[in-house]
Amino acid sequence: MRNTFLIYVLIFVIGVAKAKDYLHPSPSDPGYLDESHRFMFFESYWLNMQHWMYNMSLYAQDTPINEVIGERYNDFSDSEKEVIDTSVDYYQREVLQHDLRFGELTFYFKRWVITQSAAELVDVPQEFQGIAGVLQQMKSIYDSYYWPEHHQQNLKVLSENIEMIKALEDTAVTDLEKICHASWQEEKIRVDISYHSKYERPYTTITPAAHIVMDSKRNHSPIGNWFELLLHETSHHMIHDSHGFVGGTILDVANIGNYRLPRQLSHSYLFYFSGIVARRHLQAYDPDYELYMMRRGVFKKLHEVLEKHLDPYITGNISLHDATVNLMEDYWQPD
Ligand SMILES: [Zn+2]
Repeated sequence: MRNTFLIYVLIFVIGVAKAKDYLHPSPSDPGYLDESHRFMFFESYWLNMQHWMYNMSLYAQDTPINEVIGERYNDFSDSEKEVIDTSVDYYQREVLQHDLRFGELTFYFKRWVITQSAAELVDVPQEFQGIAGVLQQMKSIYDSYYWPEHHQQNLKVLSENIEMIKALEDTAVTDLEKICHASWQEEKIRVDISYHSKYERPYTTITPAAHIVMDSKRNHSPIGNWFELLLHETSHHMIHDSHGFVGGTILDVANIGNYRLPRQLSHSYLFYFSGIVARRHLQAYDPDYELYMMRRGVFKKLHEVLEKHLDPYITGNISLHDATVNLMEDYWQPD
């Protein structure tokens, strides 16, 4: 009886320990930086290193490693160069085929590695022994030549944006929820700041809870750009390709009207909705703020129809269904 009880206690303790990842982010987790009402910000040393290795190995597929690394390459000793060669080789053989967002290895590795403190990787699961071994052997090089700069830049980007996020997030999220007919997840969303990222762009995984990676390397001007991208990434847990209000409405309209969907139409809605909400709330900072998708020419062919047909929906004058019918009619109309 007593033994059975102890076994139950043990199972419970292991369960709690296992669940203690980004599903329930806590200030006591490694790499905690700051938090707002909606987000908890972290800087995982190992995730930063993983993105750095991933990108370096990716670029080294087409470019000699000394050119990928640049001038700094001459500072490395012969033994350091050898460690880099074998590590990059490992990533090219075993890791790069796994997309940072969807890949089985990289998805689960991300979930695990963010629970690890910067000092060392402990209790490495069998399936991560290879990749963890590579990171551990690259640690001294990363510490000496890269981490200080990555760390500084991560802190800089957060400090430039945290007050704005705190001031705007609640009303912005309420607007997004209204437009998307979807609720924000119950717990704060974990945001990991990483110098490098997936093609130096932010990305989000949504199962089993939203987890956002925001990059810090790029020039994040104008003011508000990082905030808009954070809203964009966040919207990925509220707008889905084929279910939920927005994705479901698009599919419904396409099925009934027999429309061929423009590629990633729901993603273009997501860009537009999160951009409009960001712009609305950024007025005080920049009255001329322009949406990321407009500035960067993302989904360029759709800009005109998105503005023309989604604005009346956003202002509450038409249903999303009717707006989407109008948009499709307009988009596929022969010139
Ligand atoms: Zn997106």
